[in-house]
Amino acid sequence: MEKIPDMEIINLINKYNVQGPYYTSYPTGKVWSDDFRAADYKEALKDILNENKKIPLSLYIHFPFCVRLCNFCFCYTKITKNFNKIDAFLQTLYREIHLLKDFFTQNDYVPNIREIHLGGGSPSYMNKYEFKQLIAEISLLVDPHKLDEFTIEIDAITVNQDKLKLYHDSGINRISFGIQDFDPNVQDVIGRIQSPQLLEKLLIPEIRESFKGVNFDLMYGLPLQTRASFSETLDTTLTLSPDRVAIYNYFHMPELYKHQAKISKSDLPDTIEKTMTFIDASNKLTSNNYEAIGIDHFAKLTDDLAIAKRNKTLRRHFMGYTAGRAPNLIGIGPSTLCGFTRYYAQNVYSLEEYASALSKNDFPILHGYKLTDDDIIRRDVINSLLCYFRVDFKDIESRYKITFNEYFEEELKLLDDLIKDGILIYSKNFIDMTPAGHFFVRNVCTLFDKYFKTDTSSQYVPALQRSSTSSYKIQSCGGE
Ligand code: SF4
Repeated sequence: MEKIPDMEIINLINKYNVQGPYYTSYPTGKVWSDDFRAADYKEALKDILNENKKIPLSLYIHFPFCVRLCNFCFCYTKITKNFNKIDAFLQTLYREIHLLKDFFTQNDYVPNIREIHLGGGSPSYMNKYEFKQLIAEISLLVDPHKLDEFTIEIDAITVNQDKLKLYHDSGINRISFGIQDFDPNVQDVIGRIQSPQLLEKLLIPEIRESFKGVNFDLMYGLPLQTRASFSETLDTTLTLSPDRVAIYNYFHMPELYKHQAKISKSDLPDTIEKTMTFIDASNKLTSNNYEAIGIDHFAKLTDDLAIAKRNKTLRRHFMGYTAGRAPNLIGIGPSTLCGFTRYYAQNVYSLEEYASALSKNDFPILHGYKLTDDDIIRRDVINSLLCYFRVDFKDIESRYKITFNEYFEEELKLLDDLIKDGILIYSKNFIDMTPAGHFFVRNVCTLFDKYFKTDTSSQYVPALQRSSTSSYKIQSCGGE
């Protein structure tokens, strides 16, 4: 991407610093219904079966425990060293796997599971015995060695080379490290100490070669972080050469996440400093042979996401971006999200409620949503903006039998200011974000979000910042 003058961006930040969702789903969780429960979820699952018995599926499996609490954390996690508690949880998790398996069997359905993501929490905190047991349970649903993608999120202090070899032998082909920042001062204040040397020691060539991909998750907007210090983190990252890098925004919400109160507000960079930090990082990665993927991911040209971008199969979903092989996602575990066909659903958060529902052989559904035809059209427009920074009207028209300019007449009237400010170009058949406009794409998404117009509550995060949180809690904190 061409280099944009700092002042141009700073002026736009000052004007467009408004609140907006992160759009890992559309509509966002705020619109979902609390009346949507287990019975509705089962009907929704049957919809998958009716639509196409061979429909490719992804699973997200949540392990909610960590060995330490990072001060910036926004995930659904529990800190424990009580292994009985972990064992009790895993037995409950297996109940949910069995329930799903039984449901598929009763409906004479062999699920075509193509991808699995183990997230948390820190799934790498499981010991070898627990991990092998989990793999045995997963094998009831699918042969883990036959998956297109099988990823585990890793806290580097919980693994060694032997454990990484076990992951490989169990079918895992992508490992994802939660890094955040390599600066020791930043690490100290966020409570997450890990040296680059630890990563070097783990990622020896033999290990690297045994996995299809290595992901790093970084975070900007952290306390004591500066443009200069994060630039050094990027240099270290480039030396370690992950295949994929995600750079999330730290958003300070101590009223929602009490432990974030340990971070002093005065240590946080202001909006301009943090946005410029992200832009610098983006420029550095793209000038070092990483392809920018959507709003906050970067991938080597050989990585699945870069290939998907070229092949136009890239999709946005609850875990950020996916290559689009299996966009229908089923969540297993507390707090997990599902998104398939025209449904969304989420499991309960509390471990007690989770165990209680499963003890009655009920899916532990907290809430959910059935998309309307209009939601599906708008979701497609927002997906297109967040993946490709472009809306091709003819594309949308051919999929939904609408006339774009008529269907979105009101929304298109709102583009004038954005056009004048050089954020987007609106031509006969396209909306194209300009290079500077890429950083404000979520502002444009809000114009196509029918529900956003009537709700600008403070739960939304600033639209111009890429955030690792959403208008509601998300299931994965991206790589731990
Ligand atoms: S950031 Fe990740 S590793 Fe740290 S407490 Fe949260 S879930 Fe656990």
